[in-house]
Amino acid sequence: MNFTEALEAALNRQRPSAEWLVPLLEAQGEEEHRLFCAADSLRSEQMGQAVHLRGLVEFSNHCRKNCRYCGLRRENLKLSRYRLTRQEIVEAAVWAEQIGYKTVVLQSGEDLYYSADSMADIIREIKSRTELAITLSLGERDEITYSRWKEAGADRYLLRIETTDEKIFRNVHPDDELHQRKQCLLVLKELGYQLGSGILVGLPGQDAWSLAGDVVWMHKLGVEMIGIGPFIPHPETPLKHERGGTLSQALRLVAVLRLVFPFAHIPATTAMGSLDPSGREKALQAGANVMMPNITPARVRQLYELYPNKICLDEDAGHCYACAASRIASLNRTIGTDRGDVVKAPRCRSPRDGAP
Ligand code: SF4
Repeated sequence: MNFTEALEAALNRQRPSAEWLVPLLEAQGEEEHRLFCAADSLRSEQMGQAVHLRGLVEFSNHCRKNCRYCGLRRENLKLSRYRLTRQEIVEAAVWAEQIGYKTVVLQSGEDLYYSADSMADIIREIKSRTELAITLSLGERDEITYSRWKEAGADRYLLRIETTDEKIFRNVHPDDELHQRKQCLLVLKELGYQLGSGILVGLPGQDAWSLAGDVVWMHKLGVEMIGIGPFIPHPETPLKHERGGTLSQALRLVAVLRLVFPFAHIPATTAMGSLDPSGREKALQAGANVMMPNITPARVRQLYELYPNKICLDEDAGHCYACAASRIASLNRTIGTDRGDVVKAPRCRSPRDGAP
């Protein structure tokens, strides 16, 4: 299928398949520009002009895992480790609401120091003191734990699959099983979380066919929030000599995801801004509708080093909000005034359903 036919298939809301996803993911030059314009206009039509801001608290950089691309991996002994106290986490959330956020994202490495009960207490306290939506991004845990956090008031959960290619997944995740990660996502969905996943773009061995497989899988699962990170090699990891992903690859995937998931919340990620000072604005013009400014206390922010040259490390939370607001205004967009909960999507057409 050529690019024009593939774009037509996307705009006709055909069920995603590699046949038309691959030509879009490989688009270059003028075709890439057409892809971004189509995604941007669908975002505007379906999601409006609002960009939802989620305040991100990276509350612990301890991790029990050893993912081969990640600066927080347990064998990175050069990294100083930190944990925020319950009070520090809650105060960061309360402050986020005062600044204007409607959602707080609590993220950490896989750190079992925060038990099912202690995290539940933190969630309950934030809920009792604020009106914030709470998104958790704490990795793989068991069903009882996920369930306890949901009962405590957590609204959303982000667990990136990173890749659904069995071989690539095994190569970069020495501690994990792909089927186990998928099972966690199914459990989270069944428990009623607003469900987020995502992909790391530019992993060794990954190509457009592999990314197309990821899109098809996420569509079947019915994810509602999708985070895309370009892989940026970290010097203290086994993948330090790899090439990594590019901003263009990540932007094309954002655009394709917008076409496949018209109602999903898709962030312009900090990693995109780390590759290019305008990376987040470019993502917002290629289908993204969310930003996640960092509200982690500045004294530990530099230590959450998933990848090198991460931006926004020295700023305070108020500065990051203002910076995001001015970037959004520069695109004639507005800051979302509600919580930005998920919008339930209608079903796709089968290719046999014909034109809309
Ligand atoms: S990607 Fe997540 S689970 Fe893996 S080492 Fe980094 S923080 Fe830990």
